[in-house]
Amino acid sequence: MTNQSTLFQNIDNYIRSARNEFEDKLAALVETPSISSDPERVRDINRCGEIAAQYLNDVGAKTETVPTPGYPVVFGSLITDPKNPTVTIYNHLDVQPADASEWNKAPFTFYKEGDRYEGRGTTDDKGPAMTAMLAVRYAVENGLPLNFKFIWELEEEIGSPNFEYFVKRNIGHLQTNSVLVSDTIWISRKQPAAPYGLRGLQGFLFKLETHAKDVHSGLVGGVARNPIGELAQVISQCYDAKTGKVKIPGFYDDVVPATKAEVNSFVNSGFTTKGYQKAHELKSIRPNMKSEADVLKAFMALPTFEVHGITGGYTGPGVKTIVPYRAEAKISTRLVPKQRPAKIARLVKDFVKQVNPDVKVEAIQALEPFLGDFEGPYADAARTAMKFAFGREPAFTREGGSIGAVVTMQKHLKAPITFLGLSLPEHGYHAKNENYDWGQAAGGIKMFVKYFEEISKLK
Ligand SMILES: [Zn+2]
Repeated sequence: MTNQSTLFQNIDNYIRSARNEFEDKLAALVETPSISSDPERVRDINRCGEIAAQYLNDVGAKTETVPTPGYPVVFGSLITDPKNPTVTIYNHLDVQPADASEWNKAPFTFYKEGDRYEGRGTTDDKGPAMTAMLAVRYAVENGLPLNFKFIWELEEEIGSPNFEYFVKRNIGHLQTNSVLVSDTIWISRKQPAAPYGLRGLQGFLFKLETHAKDVHSGLVGGVARNPIGELAQVISQCYDAKTGKVKIPGFYDDVVPATKAEVNSFVNSGFTTKGYQKAHELKSIRPNMKSEADVLKAFMALPTFEVHGITGGYTGPGVKTIVPYRAEAKISTRLVPKQRPAKIARLVKDFVKQVNPDVKVEAIQALEPFLGDFEGPYADAARTAMKFAFGREPAFTREGGSIGAVVTMQKHLKAPITFLGLSLPEHGYHAKNENYDWGQAAGGIKMFVKYFEEISKLK
C-alpha cells in the first residue's frame, strides 16, 4: 500500500527528470501533422498512431492499434492487479488544420522558447496526452493500486465518426470504473476549471440553385432570382444576427436553463469579458452581452445558430456584374443538454421549407450534448487534485464546444466521466500560434497523480 508521503516523495524529482523526455515526445507528435480533416494526411495520421502506440508500450501498457472504417484508435491497457479499480484516460491525437501564412512560425515544427512550446497540437491535445501518460508511469512505478486504460483517438477533430464503432466492437476490453478526459480549457490561468458539460452540435448545408449558370446582371438583373440574396434572407429569418436569438419555432423548447448555483460557479472561474475578448481577439461583442454572467451563459449553457460561410458568385477583386446561379451556406447549431440534434434538424428543415421551399437543407455532423456531475466522489477527487497541484480548487464550468466521444463513452461504458483539462485561453486552441507550456505540464503531472490516488480509494 502506498501512503501520501511515499507516493509524492519523489514527484518533484521525477517531473524535473521527465522534462526532456516530455519535450522530445511532444515534438515528435507535433511534427507529424495528423490533420484528420485532410485526406492527403493519411500517412501522417497512421504514423502518429504508430508513434503513440510505441509511447504506450514504453510506459508498460499492452497496446493495440485498433482499426475502424476510418482512422484507427490507439488503445493501451496497464493492469497492475485485476482486483484494483480501473480508470480510462481519453485523449485525441489528431489536430486541426493550420494555415502557415497566419502563423508566426511553421505550424508543424516544434518550437521551444523557455517554458513555452509552440506548434499545432501542443495544447489540443498532444501536450495533455503526454502529461497524463507521464503521470500514469509515475503512479504505477510508485505502486498506486489502480489500473489504467488509454483511449487515444485520431478522428476527434472531425466529430469522431467511427468512435462508436470502436467502442461497441471492443466493449469487452473497455470495462472501467471511471473515465478521465483531458481535452478542455481553463477560463483563466490563475484559476483551474473543471467542466462537467459540453454542448452538442448539429451542422447544416443550405443549398439553393436558381438557374444553370452565372448570368449577366445587365441582361437578367431585375428578373433572375439571386440565390445568395435569398439564402441571406432565409438565414436572417432563422435568427437575429445582432443578438444571436434563434427565431425558429420550438428551437429553445428543450433547453434546461443553468441554475443560479451553476451560473455563480461559472462567474467564479476567473472569467472577465475583457480577458475573453482579448484572448479571442474579439473587437466587439453582441450588444445584449451586458454582464460577465450573460457572456458565460451564452457560450456555456445556451444554444447557438451560426453561419460559417456562404459560397457562390464572384469573389475575386473588384466587381463582376453577374447574377450567381447557386449558393451554399454552411451553418451549425450548438446545442445544450436536453436538446436533441435530430429534433433540431427537423425543426430547421421544416422552418426553411416553409420560408423558402426551394432551399435544400442537408443535416450533417450531429453530436449530442453532455451533462456530467459537479458533485460526488469523482468531482471531489478533481477538486482535491487541482488544489494540490495548482493551489486552488477548480471552478466547475461547462464547455461551449463538443467532444462527440464523450457522449459515446457515457452511453456505452456507463461510468462517471471527469474532465481534467490543462489548456489555457492563451494557448490558442484551434487557432494560430497554438502553444502549451511546461508550467501546465509539470502541474498537470502532479494533478493527475493526485487524482489517481484519490480515485484509487473509491470502490
Ligand atoms: Zn481537443
